[in-house]
Amino acid sequence: MIRNIIFDLGNVIFNFKPEKFLRRYTNDEIYIKDFISKVIRSEIWLKLDRGTISIKKAEEEFIEKFPEDRNFILMFFEEWMKMLTPIQENVKILYELKANGYKLYILSNFIIEAFDYVQNQYSFLTLFDGKIISGNVKVIKPELEIYQMLIKIYNLVPEECIFIDDVLAFLSRARRLNIKTILFTQDTNLRTELRKLKVNI
Ligand SMILES: [Mg+2]
Repeated sequence: MIRNIIFDLGNVIFNFKPEKFLRRYTNDEIYIKDFISKVIRSEIWLKLDRGTISIKKAEEEFIEKFPEDRNFILMFFEEWMKMLTPIQENVKILYELKANGYKLYILSNFIIEAFDYVQNQYSFLTLFDGKIISGNVKVIKPELEIYQMLIKIYNLVPEECIFIDDVLAFLSRARRLNIKTILFTQDTNLRTELRKLKVNI
């Protein structure tokens, strides 16, 4: 019997679409692609996720590394959290699951300052019964330890859990621990997928 539903945040509960966001500032698609690979898909960004550096420090490191992009980097770091808008369909599902007696958890690679930001903005985050945020615990998905932490801290039975994420590699690690999984993409009907796993919704 399923009792616990575990949610990733980025692109499951909150939109995180840097391409779309950067198009507000430039129509140079090559620059956008390059910027994303230099900044968001970088080692420095992973350190942010892992909570080993602050956003301020990361910004400095990026500017030092890519001085020609200084202005764009400053603009990006000023504005980027605004792209973290709720995926309303899934927020609605959170309320329903909660009303139907399920426990809700967060398991997310998320920068701690950004989590503080969304927590101040969106009261629905109080629906969650527990959370493991990479920036807090200094471990990131797909490292096994972060999944084990969630199970241990909240005393969960893996067989009673479903984990929803938009990254396949993060799901396969959870399945190794006997947690059921749902891959969420923009084509996923989450309600249907939850029903397939016998969730009452
Ligand atoms: Mg995600």
